Amino acid sequence: RREESTCKECNRTIPDFPKPGILFRDIFPLFRDPSILSDLLDLLVHHVQQNFKDKVDVVVGLEARGFLFGPMLALRLGCGFAPIRKKGKLPGECIQVSYTLEYGTDVFEMQKGAITAGQKILIVDDLIATGGTMMAACQLVKNMEAKVLECLVIIELTDLKGKEKLTDPFHTLIDFE
Ligand code: 5GP
Repeated sequence: RREESTCKECNRTIPDFPKPGILFRDIFPLFRDPSILSDLLDLLVHHVQQNFKDKVDVVVGLEARGFLFGPMLALRLGCGFAPIRKKGKLPGECIQVSYTLEYGTDVFEMQKGAITAGQKILIVDDLIATGGTMMAACQLVKNMEAKVLECLVIIELTDLKGKEKLTDPFHTLIDFE
């Protein structure tokens, strides 16, 4: 099993993306090598099986990079996958939650029936920064009367203290300052 430190080396930092002054952690290099991707997936599966055994009903992935890991993880766990997207992207009747960003507000949606009352949910994204995105996702899942087992990310930008915003369990594979 590859160590988490090796996964850490497979991220690159791009300065001034998407705006000047922002240091963007790019996770796509992880996808260039199938053996690294496979080991990353093993780390995620191992963590979930150790902590939640067969409890996860649905993996919920956040737009957009949560869609890269969510379905792979769901397949390995033998459970379903459901997406959370920005307003207007999902067809059919949706449940919404609005959340505050640095400038203004945004709306997240899930398709009605994608998760049901009482289901146990694992929320997956690539990265947590300020925590606003993950917090909104937790709220949406709870508005649909499901239970958040854990918020699981590959990378936490620890300086931004995003996990302090969350009231649900949180786990990251890799920390960056
Ligand atoms: P937050 O709401 O925690 O501030 O931002 C997290 C969301 O923005 C995640 O959905 C994540 O994909 C995206 N994001 C913010 N900064 C970065 C970054 O440096 N790298 C990547 N890969 N995603 C980021």
